[in-house]
Amino acid sequence: MQTITIEAPAKINLTLDIKGKRSDGYHELETVMHQVDLFDRITLEPRTSGIEIATNSSFIPLGPENLAYKAALMILSKCQPGVGVKIFIEKNIPVGAGLAGGSTDAAAVLAGINHLYNCRFSRQQLLEMAAAIGSDVAFCLFGEYFEPRPAELLSRGATAMARGRGELLESLATRIIPYILIVKPDFDLSTAEVYSELDLSAVEEFPDTGNFLQVWNKGDIINISVYMANVLESVSIRKKPEIGIIKSRLIKMGALTALMSGSGPSVFAIFPDNEIACRAYQAFKNEYQEVYLLSSYKRGD
Ligand code: ATP
Repeated sequence: MQTITIEAPAKINLTLDIKGKRSDGYHELETVMHQVDLFDRITLEPRTSGIEIATNSSFIPLGPENLAYKAALMILSKCQPGVGVKIFIEKNIPVGAGLAGGSTDAAAVLAGINHLYNCRFSRQQLLEMAAAIGSDVAFCLFGEYFEPRPAELLSRGATAMARGRGELLESLATRIIPYILIVKPDFDLSTAEVYSELDLSAVEEFPDTGNFLQVWNKGDIINISVYMANVLESVSIRKKPEIGIIKSRLIKMGALTALMSGSGPSVFAIFPDNEIACRAYQAFKNEYQEVYLLSSYKRGD
């Protein structure tokens, strides 16, 4: 059996709203997620037994705590129990950044093993496995996968509205945001801590999701910025004021908007043109190690 390489793209949250807390302890989310052209590369190699992870990163676990390992264990146990796989993760997405780096690796492993071992699980079955692994995994699996060349699997890229814990997904129109700048400050934030400290009554800025969707559907990328917001910023900026400072600086440099992604700490900005975006990229690159100027993720026609 051949090996296969899969691109696993990061996501940003164009809007993030929380509608309340559920009886099971989770928050009821309403968020628009969008894949961007920053991706890990996952290579799967069939083995007769055992799951082995190898990576170029010193920041991710190699054992069962790795979401890619969890995904492999789940799908192989249903498809070919006892059979193994070697997973090489070329890590390009910053870890613990609010960019779904672990979730997208898990999604790529599900899609890749389904293909490589000819498991023939339906899209719905894969999405259910994804949701059982983690909140963002189903979204990361949402873009349709295709094989442009033998041994390569790509996603067409996804934008979706996610509700519930993030697993209730509704596909949105494909739109390309051409100039996105992501700045990941040199500290981590705990997702659990940020959610647990959220006080919705203290939030000053909520996204206007209804208007966002109308403008998005029209293809008016410039004006989506008016309706974007992330309610978790109220917590993260209080804990780490640097996030607020990065946002203000990006706006001053000409961004249409700048927002924290997920529970942070990454901040992304949307720029109106390449020149202004490059200037901001240079300025931040002098100060931060993890800065990316990119566009939306899209593969295929
Ligand atoms: P999200 O946006 O979904 O909340 P995140 O971008 O904040 O995720 P991740 O990069 O997924 O965060 O990492 C969060 C934690 O998950 C880290 O502590 C890391 O050790 C662990 N982890 C497990 N598997 C992976 C993986 N394959 N890649 C990255 N992190 C992983």
